[in-house]
Amino acid sequence: MKQLVRNIPPIHELQQATQFHTLLNKHQLTKERGTDLLKKAVTNCRKSLLNEQWQGPHPFTDDFIEEIFAQADALMKETYSLSLLKVINATGTILHTNLGRARLGQVSIDHVKEIAGHYSNLEYDIEGGRRGSRHTHAERFICDLTGAEAAMVVNNNAAAVYLILSALAKHKEVIVSRGELVEIGGSFRISSIMEESGALLSEVGTTNKTHLGDYEEALSEETAMIMKVHQSNFVIKGFTESVSTDELVQLSHRLPHILYYEDLGSGVLYDFGQLGIGNEPVVKTVIEKGADLVSFSGDKLLGGPQAGIIAGKKQWIDQLKKHQLARVLRIDKMTLAALEVTLLHYIKGEVQDKNPTIEAITRKKEDILQQSHHFIENSLEVDFSFEIIEGKSQIGGGTMPDVELDTYLVSVSHNILSAQEIHDKLRKGNPSIITRIQEGSVLLDLRTVSSIEQSDIIHALKNLQ
Ligand SMILES: *Cc1c(COP(=O)(O)O)cnc(C)c1O
Repeated sequence: MKQLVRNIPPIHELQQATQFHTLLNKHQLTKERGTDLLKKAVTNCRKSLLNEQWQGPHPFTDDFIEEIFAQADALMKETYSLSLLKVINATGTILHTNLGRARLGQVSIDHVKEIAGHYSNLEYDIEGGRRGSRHTHAERFICDLTGAEAAMVVNNNAAAVYLILSALAKHKEVIVSRGELVEIGGSFRISSIMEESGALLSEVGTTNKTHLGDYEEALSEETAMIMKVHQSNFVIKGFTESVSTDELVQLSHRLPHILYYEDLGSGVLYDFGQLGIGNEPVVKTVIEKGADLVSFSGDKLLGGPQAGIIAGKKQWIDQLKKHQLARVLRIDKMTLAALEVTLLHYIKGEVQDKNPTIEAITRKKEDILQQSHHFIENSLEVDFSFEIIEGKSQIGGGTMPDVELDTYLVSVSHNILSAQEIHDKLRKGNPSIITRIQEGSVLLDLRTVSSIEQSDIIHALKNLQ
């Protein structure tokens, strides 16, 4: 084997081969990049030869050169292809945490393109011809929709919580019910973020029950804030009690220096409760009850880009805007572009058509049944069997954990391929298609699949058989 390894031509010789120039031209590579690929291919080959696992031609044959360049070409794909890719979500879970949560509507996407590809008035006051503030852009719409006096936007809701605690409660106490010390998505804990921010956590009550009296007892000169955290991703059932927003607002306003802040998690601007879907508090009602500040995510139930929206009393928002951290946590112009359009759809009352998250949540199951039939009718050439069954869709994204939406599922099976094989092959395809797998069946929930994506799935199935 050592002998064979010695027969591998040196890199400088391989660089003279016509195949090297073909490789460079094919992928528009610089000589350095092409050489890197070649070196990787040779290293792999050397290792395989030494391990006696090499199955290609012997190094002293012409075919060997062909093989090395074929391998360099294959390495090109994995080395220089993009890592962040579109995925088709056929799971029916609308705000899939691993699949990018909310997707944007077309008008938002178009506006992002326009703002990203041009200069913009991001920090310029066109009317006055002078420097402006990026905070002005989405603020009007947020105030309009929530009834708040003022608003600002940061990178995500975790950043919003951090900014509020750091700027307004550093070295002071923040009272939180033990039933609300939540962990979101495995990496965001209220207790840890509080510690990072320098605010002092004052826990009251127990996991299942917290009374108004518990808060009252904890109040002191050191208290900066009473904070309520929405139990986004879990429900406590049985013997439970918590204190309402109304009561906590009243209590905090007994002393002028105490703020009432609610971390709402999901920003609900659309009243899902009216349609019988969950009972998430609508942001406007929390502001109306007198909360000094609220914060929520842009890409959960709001259905916009990743962002942390803070709304409330002007006096506090002004302080937040001036804080050093506001610069650290500031959002990008593309996000602002998407957010403004998302909010405008709410103002115009057109979210059911134009916001993909709201559209997917409020879709009628009959509509999904019809789409499922359509899918099967268009898959006649495909050598799979299909069956439509009733099922449930999740909302996901750590929101509305106890809500399940009625749906229809297309169960896909094949007389040779197992369910696991179909599931894996679809996932590894281009584009990647993520399906459910349950009790030996591959299940497609078309609630989260657009008509173009539906054709992609049919195409992928055709290529699988
Ligand atoms: C989701 C959530 C967060 C974190 O929001 P991100 O936008 O994911 O940063 C914070 N608090 C609560 C209650 C949440 O549900």
